[in-house]
Amino acid sequence: MTGFLRHSHHLRYKQSLLYLKTAVMDRPINPPTMPMRNLEQLFAALAKSAFRGKFHLQDKDLHYIQAKGLPTILDHARDFIGKRLAPGFIPNDGKQTPFRGHPVFVAQHATACCCRSCLQKWHGIEQGRKLSAIEQDYIIEVLRHWLQREINRFTENSH
Ligand SMILES: [Zn+2]
Repeated sequence: MTGFLRHSHHLRYKQSLLYLKTAVMDRPINPPTMPMRNLEQLFAALAKSAFRGKFHLQDKDLHYIQAKGLPTILDHARDFIGKRLAPGFIPNDGKQTPFRGHPVFVAQHATACCCRSCLQKWHGIEQGRKLSAIEQDYIIEVLRHWLQREINRFTENSH
């Protein structure tokens, strides 16, 4: 009886391993997930967060954007996202985005595109797998929108 129990336990264990393996293998590498939020809803929600609202570009960030041009800044953003957010496993998730040093870092914190945990919570993009191309485009679009608003704010204030 004991032998049988042990055997059946072992079998269940093997079955659950098989299940896990199948579940992982069945998952498409780049699921065609659509961006979860439209920008209007997202920015309305972000505006209610005191933490997110604290982030603004400094004069030196704006001068940097003016010098480089927004398209170049967004190229940098694409590079950061590809290296720091897109991988399926990020050992230092939650700490991969500095708080200063590049306008895109500030934009990432302001829009909750700073780590995979915030991406899941705010944007409905699940953790534990690679970001799809569509999701990366969506993040760039969110960052572009926020940066453009900061640029407008700066331009309005300086007149
Ligand atoms: Zn985060």
